[in-house]
Amino acid sequence: MKILVINCGSSSLKYQLIDMETEEVIAKGLCERIGIDGHLVHKPEGKPVLDKNIDMPDHTVAVSLVLNALTDPVSGVISSLSEISAVGHRIVHGGEKFADAVVLNDEVIAEIEKCNDLAPLHNPANIIGIRSCQKLMPNAPMVGVFDTAFHQTMPEKAYLYALPYEYYEKYKVRRYGFHGTSHSFVSKRAAEFLNIPLKDSKIIVCHLGNGSSICAVDGGKSIDTSMGLTPLEGVAMGTRSGAIDPAIIEFIAEHEHMDLPQVMNVLNKKSGVYGVSGVSSDFRDLAAAAEAGDHRAQIALDVFEYQVAKYIGSYAVALGRVDAIVFTAGIGENNISAREHICSYLSVLGVKLDAQKNNVRGQETILSADDSKVKVLLIPTNEELAIARQTKELVQR
Ligand code: ADP
Repeated sequence: MKILVINCGSSSLKYQLIDMETEEVIAKGLCERIGIDGHLVHKPEGKPVLDKNIDMPDHTVAVSLVLNALTDPVSGVISSLSEISAVGHRIVHGGEKFADAVVLNDEVIAEIEKCNDLAPLHNPANIIGIRSCQKLMPNAPMVGVFDTAFHQTMPEKAYLYALPYEYYEKYKVRRYGFHGTSHSFVSKRAAEFLNIPLKDSKIIVCHLGNGSSICAVDGGKSIDTSMGLTPLEGVAMGTRSGAIDPAIIEFIAEHEHMDLPQVMNVLNKKSGVYGVSGVSSDFRDLAAAAEAGDHRAQIALDVFEYQVAKYIGSYAVALGRVDAIVFTAGIGENNISAREHICSYLSVLGVKLDAQKNNVRGQETILSADDSKVKVLLIPTNEELAIARQTKELVQR
């Protein structure tokens, strides 16, 4: 069985074709600048990479170029589209409606459209991706996998904001959380890796990438997470502010003569470690600048690490006990010094990192010392595989 995983953004489309017998990627790629000019990078396993500028006026054209690349005699990995058993779509926001992956039909898509308000940049693009695939592969079953679904188990006290309750009733303003596919995949894998039953496990997952979120997972269920109504809340990120005093919004609007969308643009695109450092949103650039003596780059890293550590501390309280702290995603998997610094704040929890074991990137392993009270793990995330597995499960039912 081969499953195509699609992650459609407003001007980009990432894809992977996965052979579910071996769970290996047989081709993956990226369409960029859709609706602008168009650029396709297609990486088939064991064949030369295809990298070309090509006209992509809309997402349907992008999907058809991907399908052509997959079946092309030179760059292809399958002989016909009928080899694709199903398509799994990443969908950012499922609101309160979707606590699980779902087979997509017109009724379900209409329900997803109702969540567009909550993720105006992402959901409409996701739906365009679904519609485009349906048009070009009318016989392949499609499944939607939501970033928010895993967090639907949070209790009221974790998801409600202390705002007038009517905003929750009228508009569903609440914490939803994101990166759910990753938090679910990584926490399950951590329990397996430690050989402890998932239902008895208490795990804190730190998904640290361009966007970062921390999640408290109790018995395999999310009970709290740092992102909120939108992916802006939580720790400082590449360009996102994370949690700030909400009064700052009015203050900046007044002093910088900005309207609300302009201030929100600053919080989403010009803040985070980029805003503090003025150097870059990429942690590799920050490390290099800090090394060269740039104070603002150093303080940006310090702010990020301190905030991640504080969330871990608060989730230790929420969980009542911690079996494992897990690092994942670009920074979590690769940034040795960020992990070291974050863990150095956690001695109160009995966390003791082993510097030697922590000197590793991108592989599943234990990072903590043998006498650490809490295990610290590195578990690489694989959101595409998680989406493909859920898609397979649903279409086989
Ligand atoms: P996204 O949220 O866009 O998926 P990623 O999970 O790829 O982001 O994380 C991007 C961050 O991870 C960047 O700040 C980058 O510095 C860091 N990162 C990614 N790969 C490496 C690497 N090999 N070494 C060090 N840092 C890395």
